[in-house]
Amino acid sequence: MKILRRYWGLVVLLVLVVAWWTGNAGPEMLYLLSAGVVIWSLLQAPAWCGAATRKSGTFCRNNSHGLLLGCHIREHQWQKFKLLFYSHRWAEFSRGTWATPSAKLATVSGMVGTVSAIATGIKDFALG
Ligand SMILES: [Zn+2]
Repeated sequence: MKILRRYWGLVVLLVLVVAWWTGNAGPEMLYLLSAGVVIWSLLQAPAWCGAATRKSGTFCRNNSHGLLLGCHIREHQWQKFKLLFYSHRWAEFSRGTWATPSAKLATVSGMVGTVSAIATGIKDFALG
């Protein structure tokens, strides 16, 4: 199933939410699910490349996998990678990555996964 291969991260996200909701899952399980969601959003989620092109105000609309990686153009991959290290460029980075609904979904999923991992760490530390 093609759609499942592209959106498996959302299935993991759903399982993660249910795991938190029911409180039955151990910390190892929560870490694993959180990591899965974050990895999906950064490296696998369907999104636009979003790298700024030479024409001012436009960005690359080639398909890319995940929010972190650019499209097949090597220059764009490098450009996106560099953007992460200049905080004043994050607006530029997010403008491109937030361009499509699926990218928004991936960004939110990634944030939920990150928060979940941190919360698991706190909970694990407090109880253990
Ligand atoms: Zn590109």
